Amino acid sequence: MGTRNFVRVSEAPSDTTHRVEQLRNELLEHNERYYVDDAPIIGDADYDALVAELRSIEEEHPELDSPDSPTHRVSGRRSETFAPVTHSTPLLSLDNAFDADELRAWEDRLQRRLGVAEGDERIEIGHVCELKIDGVAISLRYEDGDLVQGATRGDGKVGEDVTANVRTIGPIPTTLPKGAPRVLEVRGEVYMSSAAFESLNERAAAEGHAPYINPRNSAAGSLRQKDPAATAERDLSMWCYQLGEVEGGPTMSRHEEAFDLLRDLGFPVNPEIRVVDTIDEVIGFCDHWEQHRHDLPYEIDGAVAKVSDLGLRDQLGFTSRAPRWAIAYKFPPEERTTQLLDIQVSVGRTGRTTPYAVLEPVFVGGANVERATLHNQDQVEAKDVRPGDTVIVRRAGDVIPEVVGPVLAARKRGLRKWHFPTTCPCPLEADLVRPEGESDTRCFHPECPFQRQGAIEHYAGRGSMDIEGLGERSIAQFLDLGILTDIASIYEIDFDRILELEGYGQTSIDNLRKAIDESRDRPLANLLVGLNVRHLGPSASEALAEHFGHLDRIIEATTSDEGVEALSAIDGVGPKIAETVCAWFAQEPNRAMLERLRAAGLNFEGPDKADVAQTLEGMSVVVTGTLDNYNRDEVEHAIKSRGGKSPGSVSKKTTAVVVGEGPGASKLTKAEENGVPVLDEAAFERLLETGELP
Ligand code: NAD
Repeated sequence: MGTRNFVRVSEAPSDTTHRVEQLRNELLEHNERYYVDDAPIIGDADYDALVAELRSIEEEHPELDSPDSPTHRVSGRRSETFAPVTHSTPLLSLDNAFDADELRAWEDRLQRRLGVAEGDERIEIGHVCELKIDGVAISLRYEDGDLVQGATRGDGKVGEDVTANVRTIGPIPTTLPKGAPRVLEVRGEVYMSSAAFESLNERAAAEGHAPYINPRNSAAGSLRQKDPAATAERDLSMWCYQLGEVEGGPTMSRHEEAFDLLRDLGFPVNPEIRVVDTIDEVIGFCDHWEQHRHDLPYEIDGAVAKVSDLGLRDQLGFTSRAPRWAIAYKFPPEERTTQLLDIQVSVGRTGRTTPYAVLEPVFVGGANVERATLHNQDQVEAKDVRPGDTVIVRRAGDVIPEVVGPVLAARKRGLRKWHFPTTCPCPLEADLVRPEGESDTRCFHPECPFQRQGAIEHYAGRGSMDIEGLGERSIAQFLDLGILTDIASIYEIDFDRILELEGYGQTSIDNLRKAIDESRDRPLANLLVGLNVRHLGPSASEALAEHFGHLDRIIEATTSDEGVEALSAIDGVGPKIAETVCAWFAQEPNRAMLERLRAAGLNFEGPDKADVAQTLEGMSVVVTGTLDNYNRDEVEHAIKSRGGKSPGSVSKKTTAVVVGEGPGASKLTKAEENGVPVLDEAAFERLLETGELP
């Protein structure tokens, strides 16, 4: 948790009074878009920066302050679509802290308010730490055990009646067990889980709609549908965090007792809530969740600390906007808005194109972001982002930055729709092709220079020919100088030219020469992996090497009329791989390159079947999710050919669970329950090779 500075997002005019007015108007406009339309045009951090700027001017110039400034009011708005509901006690906002010092300053303020003078012994104020759920506030009213009203926060005093919609939200009880208080108002946050948000967007994509921006806006929009049936489809959830009006309930002296009551009555209470004694522990809780926010199956935008003792809370009271006894620690933003300067297309080692956004640099998710992925042709088209647009950029955890979508309300007139290029951005300008049924658009030209760097890197990489000393930088340099041109040129390198280059001495040249020499004897399967044939991963390569026993027989089979059929029939290959392998071998330049490899003395001989080391003898390995290098058949082959079993479910007897993208939740839970080690793809490959668990 570092110290954070706000950036001014708009230029302050010299006239402070005018600036104050401008900021207030801007904030009101953003409130309308955020709370009524569920479609903000700036990121939350940018909004918070405007509030911070206004607050600092008001503090510096008290004469410009006013009780109805947005800094003193709950910032919500109510739409006319729903009937108004006057809250029995206002639903307030929370004051914010952005770093540890601000949390400590809050604790100091509490002490002062409770009458502790500087230098006096401080009161021990216990806190309840909660997650700040990124959703939309809701108040539920129960009378005689029945849900009679669900209301949004609105402007804090008057909210919107969304009772019919709330009734469709699964985890919200509509009746309470016997013994419930006669009147009970429960407050909490309605949210959309990450999984529900993903499937909402999958549906949007399947129906050709633009994707939804984030779970918060989707939750707010879903809760505020005119038709409750539409809300019901959205899979909303709720966490409860506060009691409002209560009549006929137990007497309580601490906040955590409210959670006990709520749990007993069947309300969803977040399991991560912690009761702590000191502000240092509060800071520890905030730090922990800042690091682990992505481990949760829903989004949080911070943590909330609340004074636990209800007697102390009464003494502390409220401002017009927020309770003094609570504070929200806000995490650094993962979503920001910025300008989209251009859209370009990069070409990977297999010719796959990736459209990406060139952005006005923006600090988001803890880094400066200048480029962000747009994934593929369908996604750019669905998002319809256009150079010149204001766009929302997201960088969350380890995930690569992406453009979520355009801010349509901020679109300038006359911006032209962007079209995916029809030719490769390389000087060859080869046609880009999108094979039927595939989401990627590709360049298939074997001499495409964009593919060369990646292709050589892949060939020399660990999983293929493992040539130490031939890494990304040296390959780029050698390509530039023409020392390398393609894979086969590795064996034709003029080492005297390298010796002339800065940074290369005789020792490094000798090492490189030795590493290249050693690669000549690698198994045929490694060579096949290194050739960069689409879909051909380690396991299918092994299957081919084993089945045919020699590269010449692979060439023969793949170039025959029944090639695809013959290869498809091989255990661990399958039709998709068969097709791309045959297509690759059919290309004349590829076969010419193989002849150069033969001339260079590379091993073309496959293993005897018995040669496959039985590393997984007696082991049972379950795979869930999609792996990068193996499809379902290949995984099975890889495990079985090494003597292992690959059952479909996890039990106590399972040796390891291998997890790819989009794993099954039940397999993971079972693995955890049974203490079965969970491996990623790299660890799985080590297991295949060595039979050892990490
Ligand atoms: P807030 O989001 O900073 O905090 C208060 C809210 O947190 C509560 O009303 C409640 O809904 C929620 N919350 C979640 N977990 C909670 C918990 N455990 N205990 C208590 N409350 C919990 O303040 P706000 O007044 O709701 O909204 C202001 C914020 O909304 C701004 O700081 C900004 O981030 C965002 N906003 C953005 C725009 C925009 O244009 N981007 C416009 C308006 C508001």
